[in-house]
Amino acid sequence: MSLVVIGTVAFDAIETPFGKTDKILGGAATYASLAASYLYKKTKIVAVVGDDFHKEDIKEIADHGINVEGLQIKAGEKSFFWSGKYHNDMNSRDTLVTELNVLADFDPIIPESYQDCEYLMLGNLTPQIQQTVIKRMHKRPKLIVMDTMNFWMDIAMDDLLETIKLVDVLTINDAEARQLSGEYSLVKAAKKILGMGPKFLIIKKGEHGALLFHGDQIFSAPALPLAEVFDPTGAGDTFAGGFIGYLAKVGTINFSNMKNAIIFGSALASFCVEKFGTEKIKNLSQDEIASRVKEFVSLSSFTI
Ligand code: AMP
Repeated sequence: MSLVVIGTVAFDAIETPFGKTDKILGGAATYASLAASYLYKKTKIVAVVGDDFHKEDIKEIADHGINVEGLQIKAGEKSFFWSGKYHNDMNSRDTLVTELNVLADFDPIIPESYQDCEYLMLGNLTPQIQQTVIKRMHKRPKLIVMDTMNFWMDIAMDDLLETIKLVDVLTINDAEARQLSGEYSLVKAAKKILGMGPKFLIIKKGEHGALLFHGDQIFSAPALPLAEVFDPTGAGDTFAGGFIGYLAKVGTINFSNMKNAIIFGSALASFCVEKFGTEKIKNLSQDEIASRVKEFVSLSSFTI
């Protein structure tokens, strides 16, 4: 049994009101697998990079116990590159550059040793490739979680709708939920999106937490109020990795475990934003995670 994460492994260049980075380790699969690795040991990655990628960065991922057999390194090609600049409120950002490079003709290879996959995290990537990965699994995983973004809604909506049909859980942010459904009310949006195929929908609302929808049930999770948000890049992917990592660890899929999974995802995401890039989530201890989860519990616990 294992957890397979697919997505980008990338170079990011980030600019926030606190500073600017050159090309650093990033990518949806990087954040998601690092987050998952704290909760579940058998995490495996499927991705592609060019031969310009730094060996130390791959080692960093592998050192977290993440299986990198499915990480292809393409000779003579350049890695996916993304660059973004955050506005002063840190809630919104402009994408400055998206260079698909090696991703343009990525053909995901699923190593034989990954065919024991029970939990599949489809990190942000071309919906067509996400779908290919599902089809290349000999046995349908027990749980398929999919993350996506407005970029793919703009350029590949039909593929996206096809892929959404095949998954159990979709995670998107509020603006994306509105774009996907054409509804402003998130409750109406959720109803429409659940009609598109997934059984569970998570709408991420940044510093305002996250909502989980399933049939008529709704769970609202808080975000930890932080004095300083340094860099929100990868928070969504970290959330998704923590979410599925927790479910893989407990092994039973139900609404109650999903609620806890959201809290673990939110706790890991709250670390992610405290430093640039992957700096903080690369170096967490189990104690830190446990006490952050406790903070979440006390944050919104009350009796009447
Ligand atoms: P997030 O802040 O959760 O949106 O995730 C940011 C990460 O997603 C960065 O590390 C980027 O490398 C990666 N990313 C940005 N744009 C895309 C895209 N179009 N497809 C896949 N990954 C992307």
